[in-house]
Amino acid sequence: MTPQRDGTTAGRDGGASRVLVLNSGSSSVKYQLIDMTDGSRPAAGLVERIGERTSSLHHTPADGEPRTVERPFTDHGEALTAVADELAADGTGLDSPQLAAIGHRVVHGGRRFTDPTVVDEEVLAEIERLVPLAPLHNPANLTGIRTARALNPGLPQVAVFDTAFHTTVPEYAARYAVDVETADRHQVRRYGFHGTSHAYVSRRTARLLGREPEDVNVIVLHLGNGASASAVAGGRCVETSMGLTPLEGLVMGTRSGDLDPAVILHLHRVAGMDIDAIDELLNKRSGLVGLCGDNDMREIRRRIDAGEAPGAVDRGGEDAARARLAFDAYTHRLRKYIGAYCAVLGRVDAVAFTAGVGENSAEVRAAAIGGLEQLGLEIDPALNAARSREPRVVSPEYARTAVAVVPTDEELEIAAQTYRLVAGEPGTATGGT
Ligand code: AMP
Repeated sequence: MTPQRDGTTAGRDGGASRVLVLNSGSSSVKYQLIDMTDGSRPAAGLVERIGERTSSLHHTPADGEPRTVERPFTDHGEALTAVADELAADGTGLDSPQLAAIGHRVVHGGRRFTDPTVVDEEVLAEIERLVPLAPLHNPANLTGIRTARALNPGLPQVAVFDTAFHTTVPEYAARYAVDVETADRHQVRRYGFHGTSHAYVSRRTARLLGREPEDVNVIVLHLGNGASASAVAGGRCVETSMGLTPLEGLVMGTRSGDLDPAVILHLHRVAGMDIDAIDELLNKRSGLVGLCGDNDMREIRRRIDAGEAPGAVDRGGEDAARARLAFDAYTHRLRKYIGAYCAVLGRVDAVAFTAGVGENSAEVRAAAIGGLEQLGLEIDPALNAARSREPRVVSPEYARTAVAVVPTDEELEIAAQTYRLVAGEPGTATGGT
């Protein structure tokens, strides 16, 4: 079945097999056009610095030269109109009969949105109601949806929520141990984020092991600039490290992750910092950048290697020592979460590393798994060091639990969820993810 302009479905020969995935940030829009028959990407691009004088659009068609449009886009409306123009110039515009729907990444779906949802007025109002939970992201996501709707009112628009995969976390794990009435009045609980990535990677890991998602328990470590862990039992998320906001959990590029909540009270009462200053400290000047001044794991490893190499001229020891501290704090937190999630799951079939750091840093993987042999976790150094874009197992064959590297593909997951909803089938591109 393939969807038609009015959102109904028609036979497979109808030809609408593509989904445009839009990820609208506060001053940017990322997009990918994905064909669900084979997973090909006829076009992709990025609009940056929306609202500034130096905004630009980078458009990359699969069958042509990349193009850059440099002019001020005052708002998301202008930016998306320019994206639609670039797509139309390639014959893949928003009125193309091949386009089945637009899939929008929406950061916060609260408790209400447990699945991808076709957007209507009521859904828009509900996403608006959730703005206090994601004040930076949901307004941008809403603007993206409203603009896309205005550009082609007949095209189905689907909201895919970053929180949805985590709505299966049991109540005792989702609830913070604070007064229930206060918490409920203000919607305070664990929501979790990066859900499309955790969903995609946990299923892809099951397939890598040659098993069904329903039959395996997986710990997913999404280690990008933001980072989160999840415990997935038989395809359902049962625990995740991010909470009310993406600040909780692992050490991240610029975010602290877990800390004693009294640190905030202390900084306010004793250091005299106001709430906005503490917010900025914990979200922008903490994590790796707070510990050593760099948030890029490549640079941190370079500093460590330069300082610790035999015969290295130690420039006061500061540079390498601080980078080493950041690396050790990062991997120590990871090990703690892996151990905790082994306890949560009981039986673990695989630990999967994904996103920028997880896919690329053999050192982080080795340090996070090192010393966990008692839990059945080991790494094969040669497999771990080999570079590849393909999902792969990096543990020795005899290990009780597989350690895997599984590149994430949030856009494909959003497209698959969108397509499944409007076409009633997952599309062959995903192998049914
Ligand atoms: P993401 O948010 O998934 O795009 O990940 C971005 C982060 O991945 C960067 O900040 C880097 O720290 C990290 N990263 C990217 N490439 C590498 C690499 N080759 N080795 C180590 N870390 C990397």
